[in-house]
Parts: sequence; C-alpha cells; structure tokens
Amino acid sequence: MPTITFLGAAGTVTGSKYLIEAAGKRLLVDCGLFEGTRELRQRNWEHLTVNPSSIDWVLLTHAHIDHTGYLPRLVRDGFRGPIFSNSATLDLCELLLPDSAHLQEEDARYAARKGYSRHKPPLPLYTVDEAQSALRQFRPIPRADVYKISPEFSVRPHDAGHILGSSWLELTVTENGKQTVIVFSGDVGRYDQPILKNPESPTRADYVLCETTYGDREHPTGDVAEQLAEVINHTAKRGGAVVIPAFAVGRTQMLLYYLRQLEDQQRIPRLPMFVDSPMAISVTSLYEKHHEDHDLEFSTEERSHHDPLNVHEVHMTRSVEDSKKINDVVSPCVIISASGMITGGRILHHLAHRLPDSRSAVLIVGYQAEGSGGRALLDGAKYLRIHGEEVPVRAQIQEVSQLSAHAGKSELLRWLSGFQAPPRQLFLVHGEPKSLSAFRDAAASQFHWPVTIPEYKQTVDLT
Ligand SMILES: [Zn+2]
Repeated sequence: MPTITFLGAAGTVTGSKYLIEAAGKRLLVDCGLFEGTRELRQRNWEHLTVNPSSIDWVLLTHAHIDHTGYLPRLVRDGFRGPIFSNSATLDLCELLLPDSAHLQEEDARYAARKGYSRHKPPLPLYTVDEAQSALRQFRPIPRADVYKISPEFSVRPHDAGHILGSSWLELTVTENGKQTVIVFSGDVGRYDQPILKNPESPTRADYVLCETTYGDREHPTGDVAEQLAEVINHTAKRGGAVVIPAFAVGRTQMLLYYLRQLEDQQRIPRLPMFVDSPMAISVTSLYEKHHEDHDLEFSTEERSHHDPLNVHEVHMTRSVEDSKKINDVVSPCVIISASGMITGGRILHHLAHRLPDSRSAVLIVGYQAEGSGGRALLDGAKYLRIHGEEVPVRAQIQEVSQLSAHAGKSELLRWLSGFQAPPRQLFLVHGEPKSLSAFRDAAASQFHWPVTIPEYKQTVDLT
C-alpha cells in the first residue's frame, strides 16, 4: 500500500517535504528549507530518512524557499531525477534558489569570521553552483492539466491563489490497480484580493494535507488603500519619506498595485517611488510573462502609463550606488525595499538614514517574526541596531496587516468545503502547534472528518 512520510512542515511552518512511496517508487512533494529557530535550521543538516539518490521525482507546489530551498542540498546529496513545476514556479526558483545559496555562503563566511561553527572551516548548506545544478533538473509541467509522471503517479495542479505559479496538487497514486487520491494544499491564498485569482477548491480526495499557517486567526478587515493613503499623505505633509520593508515576491507587487490606484484616483500626491530590490524588480517583470495566474492587464504601448504595477514616477534601482543615492532625496518619497522583516538587505541602510528623522514613517506590511527588526519597531523600540550602530527611532511606525498572502482560518475552511464526499483523513501541516490544534477543532466541528496532526518523520499507511 502507498505510504506518506512527513519530512517537514509537521508541527511547524517551514521545511515542507512529503515523501510518497508506492510500487517501489519514491516521489517527494515539495523540498523546503527549515527556517526560524536554530533548532529548526539544524534539521537542514540532518540526513533525510531515505537516501536522496533513491528518490525518483520531486514535485513542487510553489516557489517559496520553505517549499523549495532544500533542493540544491538534495541534488548535491545525490538526487538525480526530474523536478516538476509549472513554468512560473521555475522562473521564480531561478531567482530564489541562487539568492538562497548566496545567503548560505554569506552565513558561512560570517560564521568563519566570528568563529562559531561546528564545521572548520564553516561550510554553506549549499553553494550558488549547487543551486544552478538543481535548476538544471527542473522540468516544466502544465499549469492546470493532468500530467502523467509514471504508471504509478499522475498529478493535476490547480490554482492556489497564493503567489505567482502557486498550485495545490491532486495526486493520483496507482498501485496494484487501486487508485488513491491525495490533495496537497501547498499554501492557500486569499479570496477576493486584487491581482491573484481566488484559490480553487478541491472536490475529491482520499487524503488531504492542509496548511494551517493562519489556522487560529482571521486577517483584520478594513480598507487597505485608505490606510496606505493616510500614512503617505501625513508623511508627505511633514516632508518625510515612507519606508516600506517588503518581501520581493508578491507583497511588493501588491503595494505597487495599490499605490498606482491611489495615484490614479488622486488620493495621494504623485511622489517619487523607489523599488530598491533587484529581486523585486525581476519578480515584477515575471507578472507580465505569466498572466495565467492573475487578472492584471499590461498594455503593450506606453508601458509606464498603463502598467497596473507601474506608479507614475517609479525608480527601480538595481545597483548599490543607485540604492545609496536614494539617501540624497530630501523631498517626500516612498521607498520599498527588502528584507521584509528587516533582518538584512538594503532596507537596513534606508532605515539607518530615515529612522532618526521624525518627519519620516516606516510602514510595516507583513508578518514580523519574533527577534526580527520589524518586530522590535512594532514593539516600540527606541533604538534599532543596524550595522553595529544604535540608530534612534524617531520616525513614525505604522502597520497595515491585511496584505497577507495566506488564507486566514475561515478562508481555509472555505477552501476545504468543496468536497463531494468526505476524505478518509485530513492531515494538518504547515502550522505552529497553537494554530494546528485550533484549526483541528474548527475543522472537526465543521466537517466531522478524521483529522490528524502528523509528527516530524512520521510515516502513515494510505490504505
Ligand atoms: Zn508560500
């Protein structure tokens, strides 16, 4: 009988990896990196329960690093099979995996300088070259049609509405003439949001794996555009800059979309806006290439005037010199830069320059993990340590928290409500323990299906 082994995102939100074994074959669904605490990151260095060379295929739900960031390591450790994803996910991985490798190499160099590593000299989890090797094993599959991987496995991807290219997967496993259908939610997006389409709902499955990132919470309601306009107008009136730390994939594009609308509706003045993140610029251009996932309309002529993501006076800065020149801008402006949680990247030098200025504002638009710079600002820190200096926080700290890319609790329940017949088992994954147990109670009372919260490395028979 087929089995599933939970090699990640079990009892936690990162490291998504699910191994399906049937008829002597092995298929790995997602291949994510563990992120967050030291203990979790340590798992990236442990051996998988099976030899990577014995895995036949990898299948991806979407490009986020907690679903793909272990691929270069898997390949380096002997995995030689194809990695299946749609072409938008492939394009995003071409940006994200080398970037992740670059961070791994930087961490290793930093550890070497500080002398705190088990390895002597400290080693990166994988290198940029190894990320490039992994990319060569990618094979594009259709966005929405059935794709037959082998006699044992076929997959049908459906739009998950979470980021460009994001899918949930309907996997049919055939063993001894018997078919078992497993649905993998990947990450489920939001309903009724601009840009991305609504998540499609599954209608049939024997087993369902459902993410529960926000399984215990609803997103706040309220008019995002109005809140953005308020912060920008107040800051512009004071003569300051609005600095927005934002994730390069998804959030930056959502911000540009709202800002363009506010400009067109004359609800904010036309300010110079700087998108200071090479990754965000590259990702934004992928929206033009992959229109199957979203409802934006790019016009072919007069690009800068009709692009829904292109505000009127936008400056995309790739080079470090151009990035530093933004410090010379003394008139009101908007600066969008990464990292989204103020844990590194160019946002740091913008904050070092703008935080001491009481006319300016920092606008927090995404989830801020414990220990991040963004969390410290939200908690009212008087100083932020940047590049070894204590920078005084005099700028206004504001938050707009509706821009999440993850379904809230009731949206997850809505996603699960399309089944024509009850699945045999609902597995809850990709959530912190509090969220997992809250969502188990909610799902159990609404659907009356058997619900399981699998443990890390647990194997379950799919009878
Ligand atoms: Zn994701």
